[in-house]
Amino acid sequence: LREKFALLAKLIEEDLEVSVEFINGDNSYWTPTPLDEVEELGIKGIIDIGDDQTDFQKIVSLVHEVGHALFSSSSNIKNHKRILLFEESLAWYLGYNYALQVGVEIDLKEYADCVERALKLYAKELK
Ligand SMILES: [Zn+2]
Repeated sequence: LREKFALLAKLIEEDLEVSVEFINGDNSYWTPTPLDEVEELGIKGIIDIGDDQTDFQKIVSLVHEVGHALFSSSSNIKNHKRILLFEESLAWYLGYNYALQVGVEIDLKEYADCVERALKLYAKELK
């Protein structure tokens, strides 16, 4: 799993001009580079992965955040709270597809469990 993570992170950094970094804690984030700074910094954004997660969770987080990266490079539909569930679902979907395309296979059953749990959490937060 650790090798899978390293491979996927490397491909993401090369393909998408994104930097993958580790942070403390168990949360992971996608932070897009402000548009007017993309040229200067040479990256489109940063994916922070909480290092206090299991190897499988790290891969799942990376896949999800890359979904956000793919989505945000092609759309500005976000920035609306009601779009959140849609964006999150899409990130799970796009990220999984991306991983598959570059040859990194993730157990679909386990992945689907993570997605279901996460979507329930977002839905609760929105109430
Ligand atoms: Zn997300």
